[in-house]
Amino acid sequence: MFNKILIANRGEIACRVIKTARRMGIRTVAVYSEADANARHVRLADEAVLLGPAAARESYLVADKILDAAKRTGAQAVHPGYGFLSENADFSEACAANGITFIGPPASAIRAMGSKSEAKKLMGKAAVPLTPGYHGDDQDPALLHREADQIGYPVLIKAAAGGGGKGMRLVEKSEDFLDLLASCKREATSSFGDEHVLIEKYITKPRHIEIQIFADTQGNCVYLFERDCSVQRRHQKVLEEAPAPAMTLERRRQMGEAAVAAAKAVGYVGAGTVEFIATSTFDKDGSFYFMEMNTRLQVEHPVTEMITGQDLVEWQLRVAAGQPLPLAQEQLQIRGHALEARIYAEDANKGFLPSTGKLIRLAPPAESINVRVDTGVEEGDEITPFYDPMIAKLIVWDEHRDAALARMRKALADYQVAGVTTNIDFLSRLVACPAFAGADLDTGLIERQKDFLFPPVLAVPRDALLVATVGELLCEQHEAKQKAKTSGDPWSPWHARDGWRMNLSAARMVGFRDGDSLIEAQVRYQRDQWAITINGETTLARGKKLEGDQFAVEIDDRRLIASVVAVDDKRHVFLHGATYILLRDDPLHLVEAGGAQGGGLTAPMPGKVVALLAQPGQKVDKGTPLLILEAMKMEHTITAPGAGTVKAFCYAAGEQVSDGAALVEFETN
Ligand code: ADP
Ligand code: ADP
Ligand code: MG
Repeated sequence: MFNKILIANRGEIACRVIKTARRMGIRTVAVYSEADANARHVRLADEAVLLGPAAARESYLVADKILDAAKRTGAQAVHPGYGFLSENADFSEACAANGITFIGPPASAIRAMGSKSEAKKLMGKAAVPLTPGYHGDDQDPALLHREADQIGYPVLIKAAAGGGGKGMRLVEKSEDFLDLLASCKREATSSFGDEHVLIEKYITKPRHIEIQIFADTQGNCVYLFERDCSVQRRHQKVLEEAPAPAMTLERRRQMGEAAVAAAKAVGYVGAGTVEFIATSTFDKDGSFYFMEMNTRLQVEHPVTEMITGQDLVEWQLRVAAGQPLPLAQEQLQIRGHALEARIYAEDANKGFLPSTGKLIRLAPPAESINVRVDTGVEEGDEITPFYDPMIAKLIVWDEHRDAALARMRKALADYQVAGVTTNIDFLSRLVACPAFAGADLDTGLIERQKDFLFPPVLAVPRDALLVATVGELLCEQHEAKQKAKTSGDPWSPWHARDGWRMNLSAARMVGFRDGDSLIEAQVRYQRDQWAITINGETTLARGKKLEGDQFAVEIDDRRLIASVVAVDDKRHVFLHGATYILLRDDPLHLVEAGGAQGGGLTAPMPGKVVALLAQPGQKVDKGTPLLILEAMKMEHTITAPGAGTVKAFCYAAGEQVSDGAALVEFETN
């Protein structure tokens, strides 16, 4: 076995590999970019080597720098994780040429499966069932069109080199074919540098069923059963589970054997996944077809670990060190049911737009034998615009699917994040959705259930408003006490925030904004409680500040425990497993903020500054363009909020900015 390995990746997968390596007594070397200098994977590893600037093509994708780091630290092997260099055959060869073991399949197997067309040719020879379609070399548009007509619509045009759900076009009718072909080729060229496409019959209402396989250098190859990854958006996985609901023993064996045949046909070694598209039933009328093979460990491998009780990273290390597979096919068994949800920093209500920023609050559910959280970040860390905005993978296990689902619901409800927008509420609705709960799965589920999954935004409930108000009052009291401690006269009534006033009945207003509506909580201080009037209704409340941002709040005769996390003007209220976001509407505060920033001069989303359009010191009129920001492939012009002076630009052209970052220092006249 190796003494020391290097992990050529970042985020949760780097942390995941380090965990197993440590348990096996193997030392670990992390690599990192300038943006990741304090990242969790760097903190966890025994050693770490800086690769270069934040952009992946200058750091995590530079094979030479990684090999150099491996040689300098004496690492005997490199684990590529997923993404980055994991499916790069040249990198795997370069490792070998430098006497370093690549923890993955041989370069020849990566190449064989790298092109979806070439892979289908090989699989056809190995008698693996293929999606009906065309995967030939002749790419003449007229020929492709004829082939599509022959297959019958709808068809899917796919980039042969595609991945990550990109480079695919669904064609419903013959007239649309040539236009969609051209747009698919454009995307294939820009994203993968290869315009080759294949055409497949579009299977309607299909399920995505994939088989985890493992092979060693002695010629053994087993399958570790299936994962159902049918819940997708834009052809990308959102929730995964194992085993696949309603899978039959017979179909499992057929698919497992087909996957093993696929692996053997390319001389596979290590962990791999054979992806199939299947009809939604597994009875004798159902069928399944090979889609592609991913020649690496997959994001969703933990669900397989949970149902088999195996550590797949340990298997990878053993196989790479030349050992035989730890278990034979007959020794592998499925126990219980596991689900994985990908927790992303993204806004599901804005087309899943990525969100970036500091994780002011990050409190995952407690881990146990039923709940596992694989993550690359901790509270205080940042989600940057440079890499995939995944925060964590939440994995749950139980004896049966229903019990696992209940665990997932609870774990999502307990997950607290503030500082970035997340998909947690979306995931909660997804697991609550009757179609998902009833295992009525196919890849169109999210689209079909969109009314349920994207409900109109409801007003923040009264309890949450009361909690937010009490939170505000308690924080003021707390601050006043802290100040009093440091001021000359701790007993001065001017420091008191218990409502003591010169006149008797003190009342004040605490304001919030919930979307477009203004909420005014009128607060009257009474002896040991507050009378809070919102929307004409009065509630008696008391509260106590607990640890951190937790509060115990008594509302009439009910007791609640809640957290309120303040991020600038935002108040995140975590109550009863839901998160509500309010904006503090404080007239004094707004004046300060407005004066300092001039308003509207912050980045509306993460992006890159492409041009500065004014000079520092320049006097401009309202509406003068000041700067152009490119974000999510669109240009946004930032203009002067009023007549005034440009004091300074906070970023130079070419620099990346995160969501909400101040872009310009501006002084209004
Ligand atoms: P990628 O390399 O991007 O993962 P895949 O070929 O694995 O591409 O396809 C991604 C997803 O697209 C699948 O999980 C499935 O949901 C959908 N898909 C692919 N091929 C078909 C098909 N022939 N019919 C219907 N859906 C398909
Ligand atoms: P899988 O195919 O493993 O089920 P996906 O295809 O959804 O999962 O995601 C894997 C791909 O997503 C990688 O190939 C990579 O392009 C991208 N990706 C996701 N997270 C990361 C990460 N932390 N680092 C690098 N790439 C990532
Ligand atoms: Mg795929």
